[in-house]
Amino acid sequence: MATCWGLRSCCGARRRALWPAARHLRPRAGRSEPGGARTRSYGLSSELLRTDSFVGGRWLPAAAAFPVHDPASGAALGMVADCGVPEARAAVRAAHEAFCSWRGVSVKERSVLLRKWHDLMIQNKEDLAQIITAESGKPLKEAHGEILYSAHFLEWFSEEARRIYGDIIYTSAKDRRSLVLKQPMGVAAIITPWNFPSAMITRKVGAALAAGCTVVVKPAEDTPFSALALAQLANQAGIPPGVYNVIPCSRSKAKEVGEALCTDPLVSKISFTGSTATGKILLQHAAKSVKRVSMELGGLAPFIVFDSANVDQAVAGAMASKFRNTGQTCVCSNRFLVQKGIHDLFVKKFAEAMQKNLHVGNGFEERTTQGPLINEKAVEKVERHVSDAVSKGATVVTGGKRHQYGRNFFEPTLLSNVTRDMLCSQEETFGPLAPVLKFDTEEEAIAIANAADVGLAGYFYSQDPAQIWRVAEQLEVGMVGVNEGIISSVECPFGGVKQSGLGREGSKYGIEEYLEVKYVCYGGL
Ligand code: ADP
Repeated sequence: MATCWGLRSCCGARRRALWPAARHLRPRAGRSEPGGARTRSYGLSSELLRTDSFVGGRWLPAAAAFPVHDPASGAALGMVADCGVPEARAAVRAAHEAFCSWRGVSVKERSVLLRKWHDLMIQNKEDLAQIITAESGKPLKEAHGEILYSAHFLEWFSEEARRIYGDIIYTSAKDRRSLVLKQPMGVAAIITPWNFPSAMITRKVGAALAAGCTVVVKPAEDTPFSALALAQLANQAGIPPGVYNVIPCSRSKAKEVGEALCTDPLVSKISFTGSTATGKILLQHAAKSVKRVSMELGGLAPFIVFDSANVDQAVAGAMASKFRNTGQTCVCSNRFLVQKGIHDLFVKKFAEAMQKNLHVGNGFEERTTQGPLINEKAVEKVERHVSDAVSKGATVVTGGKRHQYGRNFFEPTLLSNVTRDMLCSQEETFGPLAPVLKFDTEEEAIAIANAADVGLAGYFYSQDPAQIWRVAEQLEVGMVGVNEGIISSVECPFGGVKQSGLGREGSKYGIEEYLEVKYVCYGGL
């Protein structure tokens, strides 16, 4: 590892080798290249392209390395440190050591450091966005959006750091005062997915650091570069060594590394975003030593269009909610429930909008709105959902098969005549498939929407105020979009009910996930 991949220096020649096939990472036109930190080949800041783990403020190679691929072309982007259990334990120790001092750093100072980290993200937003597109395939415009969203979590929690309050409670005992203190939990193990390689990290880490916790991040194996670039900027911002640690690992090591992190006695908190299946495994680990957990798991978002809806608004919302990140977000609409009076018009307009506005291609191409799926397995799942639905009577309105652009691409697909027994009604597709079910009554729509063991986001379109209240209150989800298809924002609580998870991220509630409540009974007054 050390000889081949230990890119500890910022040597331009070595960095260029990281992106042999990323032909789209070109220098930006008109950019001056004074020979500073920018590589001449790709216009990326060489400082941000890291392959080693980041532990205790140092870049460390691991004994092995794993390849990361560009999902659009399949080409290798680079080899990254494949950390194992020893590296995970070392990172936890570094985080624990740092916690002993970080918890005592004033909230003002923590706030200033988080703000600096945010500012550096904004300064480097072009490069960070390119890294996201290279490793996740997401269209560059969306990657830019993610970087702003991601940086805003650091900004938000830099502000929240200074608003951690306790309480004083007066009881019947006159000679006592009862105090409630909020204290940082300790070391947080943070396990993140590939679909938002940057924002899923800052949403957790911003809150954790603001609260006074330190973190060990295990990023998804598909997208470790964004996590490592964040480490470089954290370091540059002056976040002390050991406060933010990153240990990438391959899929084959994720299980043992996850277990090591989630059972280590020095870890107090686990925060995970990913599939419900993996979340359940981590919950079992957490149970062994009763660790605090936050889980942001899968969804099956219903998108309901009532007869009273403005159909054009509903179509615009459906496009945004379904096709962002090529359908690969946990809040993407998974099931379209459309009332019979508006059904045919909605399907017609939805199909037209898809054919006109969705362009499949490489995320670096200007016109692209639909990049590749993350890997072959993801494409197979969409294909399976389509063929299952068609075999049970669904109609392909548009799309329906793999896209000729390349191996990981699938045509944006609209199915009608979908029924509840089809896989696409029951499982999260995580791809560009929009299945439409027809319903008669509001009660029926609610029953279908709630017939799921998960409940993350739900959307509906209606112009009837009474119906809006009824439906918003009855949907069994953590987040509701009423006449809106995109609802996430740093100021608002993100999270689900049922098997979609535990806890909330972002907002004023997010920081609570990293704070313990301590009651102090102060007597003898
Ligand atoms: P996906 O199937 O979309 O990759 P996962 O839930 O499997 O979703 O992955 C989300 C994150 O969880 C990734 O960082 C992955 O490496 C990690 N992960 C997967 N399996 C395990 C496991 N058994 N223990 C710990 N982490 C895991």
